[in-house]
Amino acid sequence: MTEMIAIYSLLIFYAGSLITSFLHLVALRLPIGESINGLSKCDACKHKLKLYEVLPLIGFVINRGRCRYCSAKIDWIYPVLEVIGGLLYMAAYLYWGFSWEFAVAIVAIAVLMAESISDAYYMIVIDRIWIFGSIILIVIRIADQTILDHLLSAFVLFAIMLLIAFVGKKIYKQDAFGGGDVKLFIFIGLCLMIAEGILALMIASLLGMIYGFTRRSGRKAIIPLVPFIAVGSMIALFFGEAIIQWYFTLLGM
Ligand SMILES: [Zn+2]
Repeated sequence: MTEMIAIYSLLIFYAGSLITSFLHLVALRLPIGESINGLSKCDACKHKLKLYEVLPLIGFVINRGRCRYCSAKIDWIYPVLEVIGGLLYMAAYLYWGFSWEFAVAIVAIAVLMAESISDAYYMIVIDRIWIFGSIILIVIRIADQTILDHLLSAFVLFAIMLLIAFVGKKIYKQDAFGGGDVKLFIFIGLCLMIAEGILALMIASLLGMIYGFTRRSGRKAIIPLVPFIAVGSMIALFFGEAIIQWYFTLLGM
């Protein structure tokens, strides 16, 4: 039994890093209208990479982190994201086993990872990706019979974001959130219950603020928030219930 869990964990880790690698390519290409068919190219010399070279981690290790054609260093962000992606899917499997909640986690990790990458590079939230993810989640939520709770959660979280965006604009004469951040909470509501979604938003705001302060130059510059929203949502997905319970215990409730 434990052997099976170990084997599944490894398989899911690698499948997760494959998904992440593919989504990285999609998130880089879709916003600039490039086709997502065809293998990756080297960022430096545009040489098309061989199949084994685009295999997550394996290609990186075989070529010792450099392009085989022009020997430019491969950006460390590729292997790092592939490891993070792999670990997240594996953690979700170990946490939930083969269940509907695991299926939700797979979709959540995939969509939030892709949107984070796209936001970090282009300040764009790709609508096709979160809408596609939402459709899959609606099917899963019908199957696990929590669809009403999550439609309500999606609606409430979207409304809260809209309200904050509106008030923020009135008070600070500056966008608190981009339209993409607001819309993304429809998807997040299908992943998380209302309280967990609010927790995700609070964590995201806190991390975003800390990041903003560490980059003193151009304090007013707009920073991409989706990566922080993704981190907040992941913490809420895995630990939300525990954190919220702990919080209410603190309040003596
Ligand atoms: Zn190259």
